Amino acid sequence: MIKPNIPETNLKRIVIVGGGFAGITLAKKLIKLDYQIVMIDKNNYHQFQPLLYQVATGGLEPGSIAYPLRKIFPSHKNIHIRLAEVKGIDTISQHLETSIGHLNYDYLVIATGAVTNFFGNANMEKYAFGMKSVAEALDLRSIILQNFEEALLIEDEEKRDLLMNIVIVGGGATGVEVAGAISEMKRYVLPKDFPELDFTKMNIYLIESNERVLSAMSVESSTKAKKYLENMGIQVFTDTRVLDYDGETVTIKDRPSIKAAVLLWAAGIKGAVPTGFNTEVITRGNRIKCNQYNQVDGFENIFAIGDVAFITTSETPNGHPQVAPVGMQQADNLSNNFDRLLKNKPLVAFKYFDKGSMATVGRNKAVVEMSILKFGGFIAWLAWMFVHLMSIVGFRNRLAILMTWSYNYFRYDQALRLIIRPFERKKKFN
Ligand SMILES: Cc1cc2nc3c(=O)[nH]c(=O)nc-3n(C[C@H](O)[C@H](O)[C@H](O)COP(=O)(O)OP(=O)(O)OC[C@H]3O[C@@H](n4cnc5c(N)ncnc54)[C@H](O)[C@@H]3O)c2cc1C
Repeated sequence: MIKPNIPETNLKRIVIVGGGFAGITLAKKLIKLDYQIVMIDKNNYHQFQPLLYQVATGGLEPGSIAYPLRKIFPSHKNIHIRLAEVKGIDTISQHLETSIGHLNYDYLVIATGAVTNFFGNANMEKYAFGMKSVAEALDLRSIILQNFEEALLIEDEEKRDLLMNIVIVGGGATGVEVAGAISEMKRYVLPKDFPELDFTKMNIYLIESNERVLSAMSVESSTKAKKYLENMGIQVFTDTRVLDYDGETVTIKDRPSIKAAVLLWAAGIKGAVPTGFNTEVITRGNRIKCNQYNQVDGFENIFAIGDVAFITTSETPNGHPQVAPVGMQQADNLSNNFDRLLKNKPLVAFKYFDKGSMATVGRNKAVVEMSILKFGGFIAWLAWMFVHLMSIVGFRNRLAILMTWSYNYFRYDQALRLIIRPFERKKKFN
């Protein structure tokens, strides 16, 4: 029988589920304290989700935005990493049910992040693409390239055109960034690769239900971003919603439908909560209700941090934004609280310090907001690159990204146009 095989010690055991931004930030701090740390993740690597869209559009290799968890903690004796999926939690007997067996905990930290939310639309779940993991980004890269390969073979004009069309649902940072990157492929790369195809027929749509794209930013930044997108040939529809998609026809509220072989759903996420909690603990967006110390409602020894956690305060009635800095700051505060627990000191409440937000639309184009400072264009784009580069885990990855970006910038190229693992499409067009 397989089991996690974690050595017994006199130290209290903290099990962290999830090696994302929140989980690894916490573990890096806790290994310095007198606890036994167990980190469980279903992947053996940490993934840098903000750059997934560049993997999906051939701009970066997957290895440069993912980092092996074991390499983050070399030769540390009080952390035990296990590649496993947590299936459930037994809060009474204080153990986890995992794909490698039972695991007891003294303290449990849920840092499982979020998954794509299709809001119960089964068609969307079946036919649309999500972009929450390296695997999904590679699927998207494959299908985009496969579609052009297939378009070459098709005589029926209508079918050929729909193979070239791409619809992105959701005008948040992810939707805006991926739309921009696909538009740059259309302008600089694809016509060279597929000279037999007519790229004036390729349409990129970005559809947002809100009145404006980047609605979490100011009107000024979102107007600027929309202008960038439209100048790049992207058709931006705001204040309308996509109702359905059957793998070919995109049905849109109060608008004619669109034919497209690829629909990327970037319009919602929900907390990835392992089973075992009562429904009262799960709240808006399928997130776990926590108090201001990140303790899960009703438990003193179970915590949730990052995208999966939901803390309401007078300043955050709808919870904190699901972005990396929130998870990392919660991890910092929680590590400090674990230290205080050892010293029998009272816990300190979490307070989010919002450093600002940014999104890039393409080469030399981005919008940045930091406190009262708002700017766009080339300087914003440089700031965006610098912040993302510095946030990447691992020197090798940072260097690889810097070199690839430099190459792409000067060569007007997104060179990683490889169909390594062909995607088996659910809808056939020939
Ligand atoms: C495309 C995209 C672009 C983004 N861009 C930005 C950006 O520009 N700036 C920004 O601040 N934020 C951005 N975000 C959001 C940011 O990535 C998240 O806020 C952040 O990753 C949340 O960190 P986390 O640690 O809570 O979860 P994650 O980083 O998602 O990590 C969760 C971990 O838990 C593991 N896991 C989940 N369930 C289980 C289970 N049952 N068993 C074992 N392991 C499990 C997963 O494998 C994963 O490693 C973006 C997100 C996406 C998808």
